[in-house]
Amino acid sequence: MKTKITLEEAHEILKSCFELNDTEMVSIFDAHQRVLAQDIFAPIDQPPFDRSPVDGYAIKASDSIGASAEHPLKLEIIEEVFAGQFPEKEVLEKKACRIMTGAPIPRGADCVIRQEEAAESVGFVEIQMQLVSGENYCYQGEDIKKGEHILKKEDVLNYAGIGILVCMGITEVLVYKIPKVAVLSTGDELTPVGQQLQPGKIYNSNLYMIGMRLKEFGMETIILGNVADDIEESCKRIKEGLAQADILITIGGASVGKKDLIKESMREVGADTLFWKVNMKPGTPVLVSKLDGKPIISLSGNPAAASISLEVMVREFLAYYAHRNDLIPQKTEAILDNSFNKESTRRRVLRGKLVKKGADDVVELVRKHSSGVLSSLYHCNCLVDVPAGTAALQKGQSVTIYKL
Ligand code: AMP
Ligand code: MG
Repeated sequence: MKTKITLEEAHEILKSCFELNDTEMVSIFDAHQRVLAQDIFAPIDQPPFDRSPVDGYAIKASDSIGASAEHPLKLEIIEEVFAGQFPEKEVLEKKACRIMTGAPIPRGADCVIRQEEAAESVGFVEIQMQLVSGENYCYQGEDIKKGEHILKKEDVLNYAGIGILVCMGITEVLVYKIPKVAVLSTGDELTPVGQQLQPGKIYNSNLYMIGMRLKEFGMETIILGNVADDIEESCKRIKEGLAQADILITIGGASVGKKDLIKESMREVGADTLFWKVNMKPGTPVLVSKLDGKPIISLSGNPAAASISLEVMVREFLAYYAHRNDLIPQKTEAILDNSFNKESTRRRVLRGKLVKKGADDVVELVRKHSSGVLSSLYHCNCLVDVPAGTAALQKGQSVTIYKL
């Protein structure tokens, strides 16, 4: 088993040991925000016919030559066509077809004059300007050409993607399955919210924090509840939990205390331990194991440690596992707006808030950084990645951040 590895090594191990390629066909109405597992090529042209983008008169441009306000030219109206209809007659010389937006342009016409720029008298239209061929003319396939590669494998289908599928007449698509992630907290001290707190007990906040964040990541989240610090009970709940899910996340008991029983439980259930401890602060005591081919990720019970590990370690893995490129944590540079007066002998991850100050994006570090502090996560929208061996941080200094 590897220990005290870097965050990047943790990513590598997780990505090389686990992958999910399960796909399913779903109705396009259930495909919103899902990840495409196929490339989509346009089966038809969009629009499927030449159409008018304006309300007006379809004519031959050559019939408008010489037309002006002083010398209007009169064309005979041969047909009227609305959106949803199909014109029957061909537009010949000196003829016009009354046409509405979205209606197919009749044979023979090569442009459309807007009704605002024409005057209709019974059976005739007066043209007072010259048009060129193709003016106010929307060609078949102008938006999407048949055979065009319109949507790509691994695209997350947004509203426009669903619109495109509908206009192509596609009713079902192949998508990657959403990973089921089960969350189990551990600890004798944890009390379900709604019950009276007894001395020495605390409420089980992490179970829901981690669960809700996984939901925000788009995972199918199963909140398993809490298990006491007891090996036998833990083993039972770990096995049951993993059976329902693709990934199990446990919270607490991953450190070195007498009642930190996760490591021992993993041995008991026969899981392979892939690594223990990542070199960063907070979030050092994470344990990653493999059972039945599935990952069990055991986080520290400290609220900030658990959340930070989830953001910087688990999220990157989930992005890969769920084929969600949009979920990959984005690293950028930003300027600090306050100082942090401790040196970082080990890699440190600080909570911050990215705010606009004039033209610049600056990071305000939160005031309380201890791993047991939950409150400073609320307004935190970025994490500052401080490399090992960094001196105290000064206001105005450039730092690397992960946007959350
Ligand atoms: P552990 O990782 O189990 O050693 O727990 C570290 C600290 O986090 C202890 O103070 C625990 O009481 C606290 N803790 C553990 N699990 C939770 C949880 N689910 N919700 C809130 N605090 C927790
Ligand atoms: Mg504990």
